[in-house]
Amino acid sequence: MKKAAEAVIEYNNSGLSIIEMSHRSPEFEDVMAQSFAIFRELMNVPDDYDVMFLQGGASLQFTMIPQNLLPQGAKAGYVNTGVWATKAMKEAKMFGEVAELASSKDANFNFIPKDYNIPKDLKYLHLTSNNTIYGTQYKSFPETNIPLICDMSSDIMSKPVNISKFDLIYAGAQKNIGPAGVVIVIAKKGIFGKTGRAIPTMMDYQTHIDNASMFNTPPCFSIYTCLLTMQWLKKLGGVVTIEKMNEKKAQLLYDEIDSNPLFVGTAAVEDRSLMNVTFVMKDASLEKEFLTLAEDRGLSGIKGHRSVGGFRASIYNAMPIESVQALVDAMRDFAKAKA
Ligand SMILES: *Cc1c(COP(=O)(O)O)cnc(C)c1O
Repeated sequence: MKKAAEAVIEYNNSGLSIIEMSHRSPEFEDVMAQSFAIFRELMNVPDDYDVMFLQGGASLQFTMIPQNLLPQGAKAGYVNTGVWATKAMKEAKMFGEVAELASSKDANFNFIPKDYNIPKDLKYLHLTSNNTIYGTQYKSFPETNIPLICDMSSDIMSKPVNISKFDLIYAGAQKNIGPAGVVIVIAKKGIFGKTGRAIPTMMDYQTHIDNASMFNTPPCFSIYTCLLTMQWLKKLGGVVTIEKMNEKKAQLLYDEIDSNPLFVGTAAVEDRSLMNVTFVMKDASLEKEFLTLAEDRGLSGIKGHRSVGGFRASIYNAMPIESVQALVDAMRDFAKAKA
């Protein structure tokens, strides 16, 4: 963050700020080239995949994916694991047929559905790898010949991913990679241009592939800050190292939830997310008091999403284990005080 802030004043002795220099300048061309290279390296992206840095967030991908990959009258499969999947389905319905293959809605999305049939006539199957609001996460993906598409907004770069299992992966940067304003797309080469539909230029993935994500002005500052985060991650040891750190952090918190008499986890144990840990109090009337105690200790942002209630600790890559320990300590002290 310090380095990003410095670059806002002056980037690399160029006499210019990162937010005022031309995106066609050699300096920024270099930022783009480095960003593509380090992303590919960290995520181990195979050569037959394109990488794009786009705008509009993950939410615009909900629209662009069916627009670019689902011909009129054809069918796509979606697994409904929460709000984001629901929103993705809504957009896809504007372009073709949507089959909701499975849903955990009746259980307030507290688990990942696993037993469902995947029809052979699907153009693609869309999944959401980590369900940010409910604290559920895929530990493995379905084995199928249908092209897989995955929204990895909230767990990208938190662990290694076998990219070649997917036709397309997308992720808003703001959870694990950098500031809002950029969404990263990884797409297998040759999958676009087959719908027979006219696609507006900016909505056409091929535009961005052909122009190396520089068809128009990219979100320069966001991309630069993502580059800094990726350099940090690489120095740390990459996704294999961060995965171990993330497992340790999550384990620490889940162990406390399971052993503390006052708290209970909301997600099915086998689907528990390493990124978003959701939990409530057995006695809901104590929640306000615990939240106040937590805030007094500088633990901010742990109030759960309104659709789940209770608490949600988002422990993304950048969260140090010391901060998780501070939350665990607060939970322990609260239980002691109430015993
Ligand atoms: C945050 C989030 C989104 C929404 O991303 P935007 O960039 O705000 O559109 C979509 N999907 C998942 C899984 C998310 O966590």
